[in-house]
Amino acid sequence: MAEIEKTFVVEKFCPVCEKNFRVVKTRSRLMVLQRDDDACVHYENFNPYFYTVWVCEHCGFAADESTFTKKIPDRHLTILRAVLLTKNIKIPFVEERTLENASTAFRLALKYQELIRGKASKRAKYAHQLAWIYREAGDKTQEAEFLAKAADFYEEALMRESFPIGELTDNAVVYLVAAIYNRLGDRKKATSFLSRLISDQGVREREPRIYDKARDLWSDMRARKK
Ligand SMILES: [Zn+2]
Repeated sequence: MAEIEKTFVVEKFCPVCEKNFRVVKTRSRLMVLQRDDDACVHYENFNPYFYTVWVCEHCGFAADESTFTKKIPDRHLTILRAVLLTKNIKIPFVEERTLENASTAFRLALKYQELIRGKASKRAKYAHQLAWIYREAGDKTQEAEFLAKAADFYEEALMRESFPIGELTDNAVVYLVAAIYNRLGDRKKATSFLSRLISDQGVREREPRIYDKARDLWSDMRARKK
């Protein structure tokens, strides 16, 4: 199936420049090929992460769907408009994104979150998904760079934010941080995060899926050490 048939274009409203812009949305019927231990899902012939970040073609604002569709606080809009509406950033609309288009979208989204001092959990999600895009492209250097950023932001979120965030519980984040450090080859940190889950009877009772994943990763790490 051609890539284009897996997506469709809709119009959305940009809260920063107050114009309508085009967004590529992914159809839901995608075939899952593989799920990595840090939650990255690989699909057949298509990477939906390329389209997670929407970019306004008029002002260049970039963010995920929930940022665009929920109310952006006025103090954030003031900061964003001061930058975006004066700089005349033009990011042309593309229906079929390349790796470069997708990476630009994520990098812009991260930059705007930094400008407004956005939530660490959101910045973690952007950095993590950008790492996944580099993983699929086989770019290990950039993958590691963004995995490390994601781990930092997740750790900051654990300290400063209240959970759950959407479906994401704090234990799910502790697990992700462990999986990321393991991928980065930092066994010490991976072990310390994993042990927080494995030693907690409450996790085993309330979130058996997280507990099982933590235990699987723990035994993988031990097997590889031998
Ligand atoms: Zn806009």
